[in-house]
Amino acid sequence: MPQDEITSPGSLENVARTVTLLSVVAPVFEEADNLVEFHRRTMAALEGLPVELILVDDGSNDHSADLLAELAAADRRVMVVTLSRNFGHQAALTAGLDHASGNVVVMLDADLQDPPELIPQMLDRWRAGVDVVYAVRTARAGESRTKLASSRAFYSVFEKLASLDLQRNSGDFRLFDRRALDVLLSMRERNRFLRGMSVWIGFTQTAVPYERDARHAGESKYTTRRMLSFSLDAISSFSHVPLQIATLLGFIVSGVAFLGIPVAIGLKIAGAFVPGVTSVLLAVLLIGGIQLITVGLIGEYVGRIYDEVKARPLYVVEKVLNAETRAGGNSRERSAGRT
Ligand code: UDP
Ligand code: MG
Repeated sequence: MPQDEITSPGSLENVARTVTLLSVVAPVFEEADNLVEFHRRTMAALEGLPVELILVDDGSNDHSADLLAELAAADRRVMVVTLSRNFGHQAALTAGLDHASGNVVVMLDADLQDPPELIPQMLDRWRAGVDVVYAVRTARAGESRTKLASSRAFYSVFEKLASLDLQRNSGDFRLFDRRALDVLLSMRERNRFLRGMSVWIGFTQTAVPYERDARHAGESKYTTRRMLSFSLDAISSFSHVPLQIATLLGFIVSGVAFLGIPVAIGLKIAGAFVPGVTSVLLAVLLIGGIQLITVGLIGEYVGRIYDEVKARPLYVVEKVLNAETRAGGNSRERSAGRT
């Protein structure tokens, strides 16, 4: 499929859409060296449009908080949502989206890896009637070989296991029409994989290709451990295949055991049966291993079910700067009332 083709053109509306307010949402975790430049480039790229920039401070420990307060004081279009601690990238994005009141909303990273200059192009697609526009990376600068390799591995496993057509190399740099966003925000699951969820909601979706830049400054906050747990979240929230693999393995192993019985009897009759510990030991280890792996796998799902059942809030807001300057005020109501 050509990348800029509209995937389901059926529901295109004929009315030209106009921006009454564009919300730009970016999560911030220790991005002190990027913030000023991020604000400058974003506002320059969106010159002339009614914009609100929602920056979510995800428990930064550097002086990001001071810089955010300065930005909010200097520019009333900047809303700062401060979370009470670090809740992680996906929760921070959700917090920002919850506070957005625009009729069209874009989310992107604050480290300038996602160029804000692409937003006008994404808006053009939205004006033409597309509800979800996702940016697809055609090149990724400044990312380590392990990161690229693990990302490739993740996408190929995800594709095989989940029945969701997640475009490879599409990240969280996305634009949503209000109606698509409202559906997305109604999904309050704890184990969040926003890029998968935004495909799941449907509507008209299209891709815009771009070249991902290297970080403006600083280092990636995604450690290998975080990437791994994020991948597990992604797969477990969109696929039950790993659980079915457990059943399949069970059948295969018992099948082998059943086949082994007549073979052993046959060998005994033929007098070629060699009693041995090794074969028994191997069989016990193999079956024990498979059992532990599958129990662990089930545990992954059970743990996630437990997280969902507890139904804790996805994030806790400590304070919001510049919330009062916006009309409608639905954002405050949301942060107080929604989980
Ligand atoms: N981020 C966040 N909370 C976290 C980790 C990251 O809000 O716990 C933000 C970070 O400030 C950045 C974005 O999420 O704006 C993407 O993070 P990063 O650049 O570390 O990830 P990468 O681009 O390497 O995948
Ligand atoms: Mg980054």
